[in-house]
Amino acid sequence: RGSCASDSSDSVISTSSEAESQVYKVVLLGEHGVGKSSLARVFGGVEDAGHDCDEAGNTYDRSIVVDEEEASIVLYDIWEQDNSQWLKEQCMRMGDAYIIVYSVTDKSSFEKASELRIQLRRARQSENIPIILVGNKSDLVRSREVSVDEGSACAVVFDCKFIETSASLHHNVQDLFEGIVRQIRLRKDSKEE
Ligand code: GDP
Ligand code: MG
Repeated sequence: RGSCASDSSDSVISTSSEAESQVYKVVLLGEHGVGKSSLARVFGGVEDAGHDCDEAGNTYDRSIVVDEEEASIVLYDIWEQDNSQWLKEQCMRMGDAYIIVYSVTDKSSFEKASELRIQLRRARQSENIPIILVGNKSDLVRSREVSVDEGSACAVVFDCKFIETSASLHHNVQDLFEGIVRQIRLRKDSKEE
């Protein structure tokens, strides 16, 4: 985004090919241990054989078909790659959409999610970027600290979408990424009109 080199002449002819070649950058945010890398691996179709690989950072490239139209996503799991302020700022700037993850078993990660939402709003003030708040680890019923209602109420306040997932059971992970694509398309369409 941001280039205006060929605005007037190309816009009519190249709309459809532009849409096809569009790659959406989606950035995962959230506290350590909430399941960002697990969600990313499910999205990327990487089978983890039981052990948790705690590699510093990864990106996953995948096309998914949503509403009969293909979308290419690059998913960035780099929020914790290092602790530099530079990286955090970079993350806040680079995304076309954001997934803010907390764990339903960890209240403080839920509070952290709100902080991240505020930081993001500050970094991208006038932009209306799609954000989905994700309550992960929904399978851990007995150690739940954040209710579904609290999660969805928070999403209303922060004007973003909300979904609960379980990376372990692959529950709602597909829905999450389809939701992201729909959100991005919606905002794009409303911008173009
Ligand atoms: P990250 O630090 O946000 O990248 O979190 P990880 O993906 O590394 O996950 C942290 C820990 O939580 C790991 O031991 C995962 O196996 C576990 N975990 C992640 N998602 C889930 C989930 O949906 N359910 C359960 N029960 N455990 C999960
Ligand atoms: Mg991780």
